[in-house]
Amino acid sequence: MARIAFIGLGHMGGGMAPNLVKAGHDVHAFDLSDEALDKAVEAGCVRSGSADEACDHAQAIVTMLPAGKHVLEVYRNHVFDTAPAGALLIDCSTIDVGSARTIAEEAAERGFEMVDAPVSGGIAAAADGSLTFMVGGPDKAFERASPILDPMAKAVIHAGGPGAGQAAKICNNMILGATMAVTCEAFVLAQKLGLDPQVFYDISSKASGQSWSMTSYCPVPGVGPESPADRDYEGGFAAALMLKDIKLALDAAKEAGVPVEMGEEAEEVFEEFVERGGGNMDFSGIIKMIEGSLEQPSDASE
Ligand code: NAD
Repeated sequence: MARIAFIGLGHMGGGMAPNLVKAGHDVHAFDLSDEALDKAVEAGCVRSGSADEACDHAQAIVTMLPAGKHVLEVYRNHVFDTAPAGALLIDCSTIDVGSARTIAEEAAERGFEMVDAPVSGGIAAAADGSLTFMVGGPDKAFERASPILDPMAKAVIHAGGPGAGQAAKICNNMILGATMAVTCEAFVLAQKLGLDPQVFYDISSKASGQSWSMTSYCPVPGVGPESPADRDYEGGFAAALMLKDIKLALDAAKEAGVPVEMGEEAEEVFEEFVERGGGNMDFSGIIKMIEGSLEQPSDASE
């Protein structure tokens, strides 16, 4: 069993760290939020007063932070200074590919092995240990990271070299965002054309319009397996996070010189939804905006 530093105990990290404790690891946790840290301590983590204290004597450091700037700050100002030589660095945050590669290079210059290991699966999967990890980094770092990630995972997949995990994550989510948007449009259109949503589902789910957005996460309440649509679009994957991931994909596409017009269209739709107050709703809630039933937030001005 290893001594592990866990930095970032929000919606995701707060569910993940206890699964490392359950697997028998000695988890030293730190978050800027006292509330988040208290919850992690209740779940069996050891309280650290700072990121430096958490990293002290750690054999592995896991970070689950909001965005690239937080990751760069935490590694450059804390982890690189205080992690013992030989500690394995695992960043599970979803960040831009460029920052992931930069920080992996800086880690290698200091003699650390590092992987980017963003996840697919939301807050529920984080809590019950069924995330899919997409891992980027050298073979040896992947082999070391794999058993640490296992108690938090249903699958741990080696995507390639540094940054490859982030690349897989944002490309996947660009597909998901665009597919969900057009699936919502199709359901609204089908209904306007007089089709019953269940009948349209029965046909399209067995025809070429089928996708994960339709058959695993149908945006229409009461149709398909249970999904956030059945809970008025609460919980699930927040639209603001979907927008963040699509933007990361578009930035990467610009850098790589790849035209991604469908991705850009998806960005526009989610941008509008977030601006109109849907940021905390599940991303499939854009169907409400498309059908014209999205309530304006109470502070919305004309
Ligand atoms: P969150 O905002 O709930 O948690 C982030 C935590 O990091 C917060 O508790 C914050 O206080 C802490 N933090 C920020 N800066 C810090 C610092 N310098 N030192 C210590 N702690 C610091 O976010 P989340 O929903 O847990 O998401 C984390 C990452 O996982 C994001 O990159 C997100 O895109 C990704 N992700 C989220 C989901 C989801 O459904 N929430 C799904 C897949 C991936």
